[in-house]
Amino acid sequence: MARDTLSDWTDTARLASASLFDYLASFSMPTLRIGVTGLSRAGKTVFITALVHALVGGGRLPVFRAAAEGRIARARIVEQPDPNVARFAYEDHLATLTGPERDWPQSTRQISQIRIEIDYERPAGWFGSGKGQLALDIVDYPGEWLLDLPLLDVDYAAWSRQTLASIGEGARAVPFAPFRERLVGLDAGAPADEMVARALAEAFTAGLVTCRNAEIGLSSLPPGRFLMPGDLAGSPALTFAPLPPDTAAEQRPTSLHAMMARRFDFYKLHVVKPFFREHFARLDRQVVLVDVLSAINAGREALGDLELALTDVLAAYRVGQNSILSTLFAPRIDKVLFAATKADHIHHANHDRLEAMLRLITRRALARAQGAGSALDVAALAAVRATREVEVKRKGETLDCIAGIPIKGERLGADVFDGVREAALYPGDLPDNPAVLFDPARPLDPIRFLRFRPPVPQIAREGGLAPLAHIRLDAVLEFLLGDKLN
Ligand code: GDP
Repeated sequence: MARDTLSDWTDTARLASASLFDYLASFSMPTLRIGVTGLSRAGKTVFITALVHALVGGGRLPVFRAAAEGRIARARIVEQPDPNVARFAYEDHLATLTGPERDWPQSTRQISQIRIEIDYERPAGWFGSGKGQLALDIVDYPGEWLLDLPLLDVDYAAWSRQTLASIGEGARAVPFAPFRERLVGLDAGAPADEMVARALAEAFTAGLVTCRNAEIGLSSLPPGRFLMPGDLAGSPALTFAPLPPDTAAEQRPTSLHAMMARRFDFYKLHVVKPFFREHFARLDRQVVLVDVLSAINAGREALGDLELALTDVLAAYRVGQNSILSTLFAPRIDKVLFAATKADHIHHANHDRLEAMLRLITRRALARAQGAGSALDVAALAAVRATREVEVKRKGETLDCIAGIPIKGERLGADVFDGVREAALYPGDLPDNPAVLFDPARPLDPIRFLRFRPPVPQIAREGGLAPLAHIRLDAVLEFLLGDKLN
């Protein structure tokens, strides 16, 4: 079977033309294209909304030097470079976050982008200071889509074999039982029938969706578009499922088996490859957001799965290492940041522990990115801080608690919250040794976790919305942008 890899000549040539276009465009104004990804609910939408607001609204950003030194003269949203990509709905998301309802915005479902033009002063140096301009493109896309990259290296038979093995064991066995039952007695050599294909694809997708829910928390199994279809929901490109090996059926072009194999190939060629070529390969820097706290609460299997998913996400970095491109624009992605989101759910004394855990979870992915020559960092952050810290005295002991307004319907023991009342919560401590995460011999205590409403918006002294409170968003900006504003 011919192997269909990203490094073939046609792709390299097309990649080169897209990159060349970006390269030439960058002469008019330097551009920086930052990808923001992460699995569903990791915090991408909230992060980008907060980041754009901090830049264009002049947030409190002491660690982001260009801002702290007053060198950012103006930052404004301008027309994006790719009219065929959805615009990131910043204004809508900010209105949802800060409007009277104070809700969290609609999460990422597809790719979108937004451009910010920054006018800045260079720091005074040997040659005096000077004015500079930077066009910053932020590209938001589901991390699930990156999980598809390893598919490019396998054919339908190999993918079916691997997938059927992994859905038959561990926490996936029960959610996929209805799909596996459908395979019993199925005649894959029978003439292809769209209704049969659809029923199989739906049962397979239902298994993926159940595995992703909060209690099980498994996301690493592709195809990623089955979980995050974007604009392809219901299309034949997503109407396939793995089938057991059946040589006779495979060889009959009119069979169900052959149709499934064709659709798998179509998916790779027309869905996975174009995304990589047109979007991923053009990124200069990458932020990968990770909801470590939810994975801890879902348990060790979810943590192991998260580690696998993040390693697969960064599998993309193998691509291009030996291509002719790397000599022209190498390395294409020069900085990668892994960030643990929602750090406002724990006390600040635990932030370094959260960072250490993320470092451990991403160690293999980090090693891979390092091999590709990228600068790396790991951070714990809250893009929007929904809590404050309080001390609660109980039975002579002082507990480090967090306080906020839990979302209506959230429960803590017998307490059901109304969305108005503030509550203080002792979240507990993360283990001081991150190795506990993967050591089945040691207990792993869940963090007490409530979903809080976004904070009450503050009015700035000069009028308008005051900057949103955050944790370490400024350090993230310094890592991502600092060197480009010098
Ligand atoms: P996406 O699927 O990656 O786009 O995830 P979202 O940005 O929509 O975030 C998912 C949910 O996580 C939100 O609805 C919030 O409940 C929560 N969340 C995300 N970021 C933060 C944060 O900085 N602080 C708090 N407290 N919650 C957050």
